[in-house]
Amino acid sequence: MRLGTLVACLLFACLVLYATPTEDQTLMGYTSEGSRAEREWETKFRAIPTADNLRAYMKRLSARPHHVGSPYDKDNAEWLLSLLKGWGLDAQIENFEVLFPTPQDRLVEVVEPTKFTASLQEPALSIDPTSNQQAEQLPTYNAYSLDGDVTAALVYVNYGIPADYEKLDRLGISVKGAIVIARYGASWRGIKPKVAAEHGAIGCLIYSDPRDDGYFVGDVFPQGGLRNKTGVQRGSVMDMPTYPGDPLTPGVGAVHDAKRLEVKDAPTLTKIPVLPISYGDAQPLLAALKGPTAPEEWRGALPITYHLGPGPAKLHLRVKANWNIKTLYDVIAKIPGSTYPDEWIVRGNHHDAWVNGAEDPVSGAVPLLEEARALSELLKQGWKPKRTIIYCLWDGEEPGLLGSTEWAEAHADELRQHAAVYINTDANGRGFLRVQGSHTLEKFMNGVARDIVDPEKKISVWKREQAYSIVSSKSEEERKELRERPDLRIAALGSGSDYTVFVDHLAIASLNLGYGGEDASGIYHSIYDDFYWYTHFSDTDLSYGRTLSQTVGTAVLRLADADLLPFDFTDFADTIRKYTDELEKLLKKKQDDIAEQNKQLQDGMLNASADPKQPYVPPAAEPVPPHLNFAPLLNASEALSRSAAHYQTALQKVSENGGPALGRASLQSLNAKLMQSERKLANADGLPRRPWYKHLIYAPGFYTGYGVKTIPGVREAIEEKKWKEAEEQIAQVSSVLQGEAALIESAATELEKLPK
Ligand SMILES: [Zn+2]
Repeated sequence: MRLGTLVACLLFACLVLYATPTEDQTLMGYTSEGSRAEREWETKFRAIPTADNLRAYMKRLSARPHHVGSPYDKDNAEWLLSLLKGWGLDAQIENFEVLFPTPQDRLVEVVEPTKFTASLQEPALSIDPTSNQQAEQLPTYNAYSLDGDVTAALVYVNYGIPADYEKLDRLGISVKGAIVIARYGASWRGIKPKVAAEHGAIGCLIYSDPRDDGYFVGDVFPQGGLRNKTGVQRGSVMDMPTYPGDPLTPGVGAVHDAKRLEVKDAPTLTKIPVLPISYGDAQPLLAALKGPTAPEEWRGALPITYHLGPGPAKLHLRVKANWNIKTLYDVIAKIPGSTYPDEWIVRGNHHDAWVNGAEDPVSGAVPLLEEARALSELLKQGWKPKRTIIYCLWDGEEPGLLGSTEWAEAHADELRQHAAVYINTDANGRGFLRVQGSHTLEKFMNGVARDIVDPEKKISVWKREQAYSIVSSKSEEERKELRERPDLRIAALGSGSDYTVFVDHLAIASLNLGYGGEDASGIYHSIYDDFYWYTHFSDTDLSYGRTLSQTVGTAVLRLADADLLPFDFTDFADTIRKYTDELEKLLKKKQDDIAEQNKQLQDGMLNASADPKQPYVPPAAEPVPPHLNFAPLLNASEALSRSAAHYQTALQKVSENGGPALGRASLQSLNAKLMQSERKLANADGLPRRPWYKHLIYAPGFYTGYGVKTIPGVREAIEEKKWKEAEEQIAQVSSVLQGEAALIESAATELEKLPK
């Protein structure tokens, strides 16, 4: 070979490498030969899903309202079953019986000083062909609100989160005996009536302010995709941070003869009646309030001056539900594994909606269907997954993650033993790949994202996410990390979709995936979330639907076919170190803030700065928080880093010589250890006051609802100033992390001992 040719070849090789940077890399957990074969199957797989199929499924599934207990919910489940069976998959429907209240009587009226009755209606629009199916639509309401009939003065409480009530305290405004009106946003909706009741309110309204998802953001439906004057966000208000699922059967599957609580004893129903309303209905209520002007950040985009009350507007709120038991239809399909049939990769999305639900959940459910179809095609071509794959279409997600929770509780023992990973999707849109999940899968998901092409920009979805994060970051330090760290960080899981029972209750490593961020949307949980809206204002050509199918399907294939489960612990250890650091800073800030406030009380600064013509109630002096002993947590975090590095070195050594040691029967015990790595992060007692939540690293916040609290036992104890509990929780988390470090260490040793 002449030198010129050699240079040209090298140059060509560089170009090829640059164009497809990951193609030649051996996949984590594979031999080099196995890796090549896997990539071929994945390429075949990604060519199969089509946007036309996604569109046809979406049209069919969202054609009529299909909430829990409705005829079309069952009809959809049976249609899904027939599709999966038609593709040759082993599929069945599993039923559960759950409490699902539907509205019987709803009334919101101003009785003083003037009269106004809220419409509580979402009218049909002639341009939107499914918006007129009133006979089948659930009226606007919040499921699991207590029945009640109350009349009282109205108070505006902004988003109705704990910090808002502290502000009201400073202004001398009490909600005791009042009805509050909160706007949607800043917390999960179920938190609003919960915090209102804790402060003595006797009723709660939640409305959608145009500032948050209406005309302040963009043109409203049907001119644009944002919420119009009559659009209402339905939704569940059950106390999900205590436990999700059927309120009558906590911790066990709601099968026909399950032992049930009485409705009156169910702890997750609200303590006060609550209803959601549109901003068309909210404006006259808010306009009828007097009292102090709302603080600037509390003001929405309605053309009124926002006052806090209380009153003089007096409100009458009446809510009554039919407290019926309804049947759930979970659709479950299995593809048996050839080598490790007892290791399961579980994949799910819900199929029930509040109304037609083209976005939520159908835009996430239809990519799942194309994945299942594509896998069935690969099976016909001779592909054999090593692990068992289970595809699930959940019912009853909207009222409270019912279908997934009851199924996982019913199958808890098997899942604890066999489930390696759960992958969830829910709604999907146009834009960037959003990854939330267990950090032991961070490296794995970065690998998948590098192999998926963005349908509009034609670069990898990984590159797009990196670019977006760099451009939108406000911190120099963060931008440096985004450019230099090999893996993009994934977000932790809180709650809000069907992964909750898998990660939080059973401690199964989980992921939640979806595209979004490029189209503002204001039809969430209204009758206008339908096929017309989705195909005009969201992922209109379903190209990101197809990309989601390719993304999740690639992840499922890669997990199911690997010799060794592709868990990595270095990113996880790095994340734990970050959380530990955050906790120390949180305590320090609490100490500084309270010390400063005490000082301002003492030297009279607070009083001197207050407007004497406005009401002002100074806070009470508080003891400065004590120092906490973080040493056990720091030691555990370091032990974790050491064992993670050891495992990584061992894995690298095995992979370097083409990984011939992989692919042996002896990997079974190693895989079993890896499967248990997430389980080790939980303990039997769970979190304080909510034992259903077993995972000690991730949980939805008790006062945020969907928003995650990482190392929740410690973090929430500090936030809620429970110092003794904080110390106890530090000990618990440290011991769990030490156990994790020991498990990883033993996996590393076993890996080193594999015959070459
Ligand atoms: Zn959903």
